[in-house]
Amino acid sequence: MNSFRVAIVDDSATMRMIIKKTLVTQYSDDVEVFELENGKKFIEQVDKIKPDIVLLDWNMPEMDGFETLKILKEEEEYQETIVIMITSDSRKEKVKLATKEGLSGYIIKPFDRKRFLDMMEKVVEHLNSK
Ligand SMILES: [Mg+2]
Repeated sequence: MNSFRVAIVDDSATMRMIIKKTLVTQYSDDVEVFELENGKKFIEQVDKIKPDIVLLDWNMPEMDGFETLKILKEEEEYQETIVIMITSDSRKEKVKLATKEGLSGYIIKPFDRKRFLDMMEKVVEHLNSK
């Protein structure tokens, strides 16, 4: 497996910890994890991180997930970057709008480990096939 880089963008430290632990348990040395506490910090760091996958919270101070997604997808370099929204808000209109902006998928909170890993498996398979 090729190693891959994941940015976890969430204002909840607990949530970041749960996701990170799940990823490291599943992928050990194949995954490199970066934690950012909001969209603004992520956008500031993204050119250093160069993530393959972004796990993006929807509700965050400074810059929310939707705004972060839009800014990221304005950049040519991040067109292929996989963005998965992790949200407690599954309103169809919002998801539809985000999909138009380049969202690859979403996970509904509360965090379901199995669903998350199923989604990750598909995403990692996709990355490995490139
Ligand atoms: Mg939040």
